[in-house]
Amino acid sequence: MKQNDNRFLEQEEAFIDGIDVSGRWNRMLLDRVIKDFSIENKEKVTAVPGAESFGWCYQCAQCVTVCPVDHVGDYGPRKLVRWVETGMDLFNDPNLYLCTTCGNCYRVCPKAVDMMKIMPAVREEALLEGFVPEELEKALENSSRYGNPLGEPARKRVDWIKTLEEGVGVPIIKSVGREVDWMWFVGDYPAYHPRGQDAARAMARVFNKLGIDFAILGVEEQSDGDSQRLAGEKGLFEQLAEKNMAAFDKYEFKEIVVTGPHALNAIRNEYPKMEGGKEYPVRHYTQLLVDYIDKMEFTREIPIRVTFHDPCYLGRHNGEYEAPRKLLKAIPGIELVEMGRCKENGYCCGGGGGGMWTDSYSIDFMKERLSDRRVKEAVGTGSKILAVSCPYEVSRFEDGVKATNNEGMLIVRDIIELIDYAMGGDSPNPVF
Ligand code: SF4
Ligand code: SF4
Repeated sequence: MKQNDNRFLEQEEAFIDGIDVSGRWNRMLLDRVIKDFSIENKEKVTAVPGAESFGWCYQCAQCVTVCPVDHVGDYGPRKLVRWVETGMDLFNDPNLYLCTTCGNCYRVCPKAVDMMKIMPAVREEALLEGFVPEELEKALENSSRYGNPLGEPARKRVDWIKTLEEGVGVPIIKSVGREVDWMWFVGDYPAYHPRGQDAARAMARVFNKLGIDFAILGVEEQSDGDSQRLAGEKGLFEQLAEKNMAAFDKYEFKEIVVTGPHALNAIRNEYPKMEGGKEYPVRHYTQLLVDYIDKMEFTREIPIRVTFHDPCYLGRHNGEYEAPRKLLKAIPGIELVEMGRCKENGYCCGGGGGGMWTDSYSIDFMKERLSDRRVKEAVGTGSKILAVSCPYEVSRFEDGVKATNNEGMLIVRDIIELIDYAMGGDSPNPVF
């Protein structure tokens, strides 16, 4: 190779070990053509209050490998930023509704790019402009009109109690007339969805057997509103939250216990931030029951391998990984095994951030649903039961079991159904 003072500039003639690389070996130092792009679209995003961190990304790509949507498609904050820089209008693009706000990207992002703030903020603007998937719009309308996304009448919120066997009491706080230890915030899916009601009934049996002093709000309860907020409907969230807080304030209780992680997130983290909002002591049901393990009298075994799916809003968003696992391990017979992606790196079921109401819309932009992917991971552990602790997940994963032809291989059960069965309750035998 020719040696001279300009060795790092492209040479007319260059040889390495006798191979002619003239004009090729250091071309990177020449002027290069940079692809044109405009910062206009990006500035439109970062100008929205709450979405500022979209501008902090420095393209390191750590987020892409952990994004559950990228595993079934093409996604992640790094890609969104780049696409916006090169022309995508996020305010009017289907990618706006694919993020489930699972929080895994935020966990690894060195620049604190926060999709949990960016997505709701941009979606709020898009909603005002009328860009919203039809099925999501319906869920939001239902929430506004009926106080729940399923569009069920408020008076039916307590119908599930009627199907409980005699002797299992579910007191409505209005008729209790005294302070109770626990205000049980039941939630929409446990109150209305058939599979959610199974879990609600199991919870009532277990609370009764353990002598827990509780009551529910009954027809005064509204949707917790958190998923509506993350889907971009902040005003609706505030409306629902105000009604729930007004109901809480009418009665006396020591603490709130919730069935769902989204209610936990709303009441613990979001209600106090509102104007006129308040802090309420609140726990997820697994966090309450873990204190009662020694009092649980198990009369049945569940001799089977079980794996547990961490809900994003119980785990990553609220830091609880152990209570559900301790409960599962306490049930006689259960062998608990972990999926590769668990705890801090748990894989999203696809239901968060409004994803519960965009399944038909999102599937056009993904190879498969996140819940289907997760079911395959659960089957891969050799488990027969996929245990869950979020009311969104039972129906999502049961659909996933069917969609992936795993019927007869895996069943889905809320942890409370397993506890109830093991304590001799009416929840069906999960062993097959
Ligand atoms: S991890 Fe953060 S900084 Fe890195 S590419 Fe993703 S969003 Fe950008
Ligand atoms: S919040 Fe979850 S789904 Fe959304 S971009 Fe981040 S990792 Fe992907």
